Amino acid sequence: VDLAAVDERVCGCRACPRLVAWREEVAVVKRAAFRDQVYWGRPVPGMGPADARIGVVGLAPAAHGGNRTGRIFTGDRSGDWIFAALWRAGLANQPTSVAADDGLELTDCRIVAAVRCAPPDNAPTPAERDTCSPWLARELALLPRLRVLVVLGGFGWSALLPVLAAAGVVIPRPRPKFGHGAEVTLDAPGGPLTVLGSYHVSQQNTFTGRLTEPMLDAVLTRAVDLARG
Ligand code: SF4
Repeated sequence: VDLAAVDERVCGCRACPRLVAWREEVAVVKRAAFRDQVYWGRPVPGMGPADARIGVVGLAPAAHGGNRTGRIFTGDRSGDWIFAALWRAGLANQPTSVAADDGLELTDCRIVAAVRCAPPDNAPTPAERDTCSPWLARELALLPRLRVLVVLGGFGWSALLPVLAAAGVVIPRPRPKFGHGAEVTLDAPGGPLTVLGSYHVSQQNTFTGRLTEPMLDAVLTRAVDLARG
């Protein structure tokens, strides 16, 4: 099994009834601005090469972003933020992410969502998080060079730590807390693995100034330094 096979398989997943209903309803009702487009309306796989040393873990696809375009963080304002930042960090070949065929490529970085289907109100339940976590586990297991994980938001943090623990990564007690700029280096079977926290690139954070471009750039610069140091 390789990453492409996992990507293909996840796209057929229907394990969460509420999310399946929502992602498919949104794909039919659509937003007026996109009414001429065919929505993806399925789980959204990760993006980036298998030799990535840096992983980025987001929350879930946006109803009219990834759920529309079929590519993670593509076609919405959150995507504008994260891909512009990845480009500034030298991890993307362009600063924009508007459509699945726009030529965007990542280098040394794989970006994934903790939950692969768009949830109502951008809010998956803890049960949906746990139902989707085997997909995150399978994906991380297929990134053999991974050295750093940047986690966008507390939800992704809460999804990731149990997945790492199940993979044999030693998680200290008390469990490391999420915060912007949080950093913890863990003993993993393949060597040290550093987990970095950043506020999520959601509009609630970026519009309000809770997360600024320099704040996000600082976390990604730290990730690059750790991965290549
Ligand atoms: Fe499957 Fe994950 Fe989507 Fe649930 S959220 S239906 S587990 S892909």
